[in-house]
Amino acid sequence: MNYPATREEAKRTNAKFYFTGKPCSRGHVAPRKTKGACVDCIKEDWVTDNERRKLLPKSEASKAAGKKYYEKNKDAVKARSDARPAEEKRRHKDKYKKENPELCRIICNARRRRNREATPTWLTKEQKNSIKQLYIEAQKLTKLTGVRYEVDHIIPLTNDSVCGLHVPWNLQVIPKLENLKKANKIVA
Ligand SMILES: [Zn+2]
Repeated sequence: MNYPATREEAKRTNAKFYFTGKPCSRGHVAPRKTKGACVDCIKEDWVTDNERRKLLPKSEASKAAGKKYYEKNKDAVKARSDARPAEEKRRHKDKYKKENPELCRIICNARRRRNREATPTWLTKEQKNSIKQLYIEAQKLTKLTGVRYEVDHIIPLTNDSVCGLHVPWNLQVIPKLENLKKANKIVA
């Protein structure tokens, strides 16, 4: 790139940037804006400012804007989240759990209660045991493949038209992504 060598020249020629080749006060050898600042300093400040802002509590307006963005771009947001490395996803989830312990306990308890309520009283000990085996299998597959496996209800426990049971013949071990796509819908 050919930048003017001085600020005066940049002003004269209406260029937005100029480049002296000398380091700025922070030691960057980078173009500077004709209006003043070094380009690398701007980038640096932008990053630190962003990090600082991330730590601040979100305003109601910002929460509302985030929600609106999500509603409008649901598929893209989900695709981006699916594409993230497993390690990053786990870190994010752990962080969320730590920050919202109460909410996570409620969700966890609700799922347990849902399963318990959908478990018929007439289920035999062997049948209960085979349910347990499916959860163990899911865990094993997760460890073996690195892909998260889950125990899924073939007919969902909560659905608009039918309610499935928490019984061995309504359970299958499938990768989590597939499970999410199903999202309480019945797939034929
Ligand atoms: Zn600089």
